[in-house]
Amino acid sequence: MARNIDGTEISRVMRAEMAQQVAELQAAGVTPGLSVVLVGNNPASQAYVASKTRACETLGMKGQTLNLPEDVSKEELFAVIDRLNSDATVHGILVQLPLPAHLPYKAVLEHIHPDKDVDGFHPQNAGLAFVGDPRAFIPCTPAGILEMLRRENIPTRGKHVVIVGRSLIVSKPLASLLMAPGPDATVTITHRHTPDLAAFTRQADILIVAVGKQNLITADMVKPGVVVIDVGQNRVPDASSARGFKMVGDVDFDTVSQVAEAITPVPGGVGPMTITMLLANTLQAARARVTRSQPS
Ligand code: NAP
Repeated sequence: MARNIDGTEISRVMRAEMAQQVAELQAAGVTPGLSVVLVGNNPASQAYVASKTRACETLGMKGQTLNLPEDVSKEELFAVIDRLNSDATVHGILVQLPLPAHLPYKAVLEHIHPDKDVDGFHPQNAGLAFVGDPRAFIPCTPAGILEMLRRENIPTRGKHVVIVGRSLIVSKPLASLLMAPGPDATVTITHRHTPDLAAFTRQADILIVAVGKQNLITADMVKPGVVVIDVGQNRVPDASSARGFKMVGDVDFDTVSQVAEAITPVPGGVGPMTITMLLANTLQAARARVTRSQPS
């Protein structure tokens, strides 16, 4: 039976470490601040945003949410971002995705100043991360997965990591980070058009699944002893829950955990780590600002 990789517990430890660092910055007169821009009333987005700003406040950071109407224009949204870009008390800016279809999300993300882009989605940060520059903000989910592997003492050097999915926010940056000197993994990326997905997933020493399809990965698709990181977040109806749904991942947890060495649960695996790394990036942004404002 697989060992559970407990993202909630790793996050608890990391957040305690960060609370100390926030207190030190506050003693120096700086309170790290994160502003989250939420367009519309998507309930899942509202829940994610609420947990992000709540997590900020728990650490002593300033977390604020700006709610904009579903039909906000691109110009109005840009004006809000401009204001946050020039507000010295705001160290991190995040525009919650997905955006309504009339808003060009790439242009919106590029409008955030790279120094405040704590999601790491601005092309400048994506490029810096790709070349291994420490000034980059690393996107939170890949950063959280790396930190989780590190803190669980799961070696990546020389291991074959197979990633299912090729998204810009999770899979591509993760592949680049894992193959870099240091982690030193051999990485295979698969996607919708990969024929015979199981032939690839069965080769994985570490299998990372970021697709958004319940039960995509079953026990016959993994080799014994694999480490499984399940990024997927799928809402499925659940009459026993007050919310009427429960969250599940992309991996058939019950059968795969009979074969794997270690596995992340959903919820309680990658999700909390993503928010924890958002806090870490906001802290990094505040520290960088302090450093830039010091005379050289
Ligand atoms: P995404 O942009 O939704 O893309 C999904 C990827 O899966 C695409 O690359 C797609 O391939 C691939 N795919 C679809 N069907 C497939 C199949 N049958 N076999 C192999 N690959 C397939 O991805 P994302 O934004 O990374 O999100 C993925 C999941 O992770 C979602 O459930 C999301 O909610 C979750 N997520 C969780 C967190 C967290 O903090 N826990 C953070 C981010 C995302 P094509 O490119 O060929 O279409």
